[in-house]
Amino acid sequence: MKPNYSYRTIAALFFLFAFGTHGILLAQSTMAGPLINHLGLSPDLDQMFESHDDKCGPIDEKALAAYRALAAAGEDYKYDQLLGDIELWKENKYVEHVESIGKSVQGRDIWELKITATDRLQVRPRHTITIHARTHPHEIQSWWVCQHIIQFLISDDPLAAALREQCTFYVYPMYNPDGVNLMTTRYNANGVDLEREWDKPAPQVEAAALKRRYSELMNSAEPIEVALNLHSSSDPERYFWYHHESGTSAEFARLEREFIGNVRNWFSRIMPWDYAVSWNGSTPTHFPESWFWFNFGTNVMALTYEDIFAHNQQTPDAYFDSAALALLHGVVDYLNLNSVASVDEGTNSLTNFSLSIINGQNPSLTFRVAEREDVEVRMFDGLGREVRSIFNGSVSSGEQKFALDIGNLSSGMYYLQVRVGSTIVVKQIPVLN
Ligand SMILES: [Zn+2]
Repeated sequence: MKPNYSYRTIAALFFLFAFGTHGILLAQSTMAGPLINHLGLSPDLDQMFESHDDKCGPIDEKALAAYRALAAAGEDYKYDQLLGDIELWKENKYVEHVESIGKSVQGRDIWELKITATDRLQVRPRHTITIHARTHPHEIQSWWVCQHIIQFLISDDPLAAALREQCTFYVYPMYNPDGVNLMTTRYNANGVDLEREWDKPAPQVEAAALKRRYSELMNSAEPIEVALNLHSSSDPERYFWYHHESGTSAEFARLEREFIGNVRNWFSRIMPWDYAVSWNGSTPTHFPESWFWFNFGTNVMALTYEDIFAHNQQTPDAYFDSAALALLHGVVDYLNLNSVASVDEGTNSLTNFSLSIINGQNPSLTFRVAEREDVEVRMFDGLGREVRSIFNGSVSSGEQKFALDIGNLSSGMYYLQVRVGSTIVVKQIPVLN
C-alpha cells in the first residue's frame, strides 16, 4: 500500500477530470500564446514553432515570467555556472572524466561527465546509463533533477558506491548551452528544437554531437541500456512519456511499464505509465527515443521524464531530489542490480539473508555472515528520505539480528537497505501502523 497524498489542488483534479489520461495531448492542441525567444524571429515563425505538438506542453506568459524571474535572481544556471561546477566535479574521485563531445552553434562545449567506480578494479562489464538534460533551456527543473543525480552519484552513500561498482553513468547536464545563455524556450541558436532533430540527415551540431557520442557508446563493449532524457512540462504532474506498443512492441511496452513502475515504487508522486501515452498507432522518427527504438529496439530503455515546470527550488512539494533518487533506484531495479550484489536467501555462501515481519509488530532482520564484516542497515521512505539508521558497525561471524523500530512511521511502503561489506541489498517492507 502506497502512502496516500492529498497534495493535489482542485485545479489539478479538474485538469485530470477534464482531460483524462490523454490530457496532455489534448491540451497541446489548444495551446496558444506568444513565445519569447531572443532571436528576433517573426511572430509567424514563433507561431509555427509553437504549433507543433511539443511533448513538454504549451508555454504561456506565466511560465515565461517565472523563468525570467529565476534568471533575474541568477538561478537559471547558465553556461558559466556549469563551467564552475565542472572544475569541482573534476576533483571528485568518482568522476573519471569531464570531456567535451562537441561544440554548439555559438562554439560552447557540450560537456559529458563520466561517473563510475574509478577507485575499484573493474572485474566485469558495467551497465551503461546515459542522462541528458536541458534540451529545452527554460526547463530548468530538468537540470535540478540532473544536479541531484550527479550529487548522489559522486557521494559516498553506499548505494551510490554500489551503482558505481556496477554501472557507468554518462551525464550531459546542458545539451543546449546556447539556448540556455540566450534564454530561449526550446531552441538552439538557430531557432531549432534539438528534441526533433534525430532523424535529420544533417542535424544541428548539438544533436549531431550527442547522436555521434551515443552511437560510439552503442558500438562499445558496454552499450547503453538505459537512456534518460530529462525535461519539465507545463502539466501539473510528473510523468514519463510512455511509448505505446502499437508504436513499439508488446515486449518493449512491458519493459517500459516495468521501468516506470520501479521508479514509482520509490516516488509515488510520479504518475502511472498510462498518464501520458504516445506513439499510439505510429512511431515518430525525430525524437532521441525514436533513434534508440529504430536502431536498438528493446536493448535500450530510452524514456523522457517530465518534471513540473511550475516548480522552483523553493516550492514545498518540488522534490527534485526524490525524483532523482527514484530514477536511480528505478535503474537499480530495472537492471536487477540488487540480485547482482546478491545476499538473497540461500543463494550466497557468505550470507543467509532473511527478513521477518510479524503482523507489523516487533519486526526484525536476521542474516548470517561467515566472517567479521562491516554492516550498515538503513531504512528509507517512499520519497527516498532516510527515516531510520538502524545499525552501522562491525559484526562478528554468525547470525545477526536487528530490531526494526517502525513505531511512529506512517503507513506505506518503506525500503530497507542492508550493506554487508561492499554488497548491498534493498528490500521493500510494507508498514501498517
Ligand atoms: Zn522539454
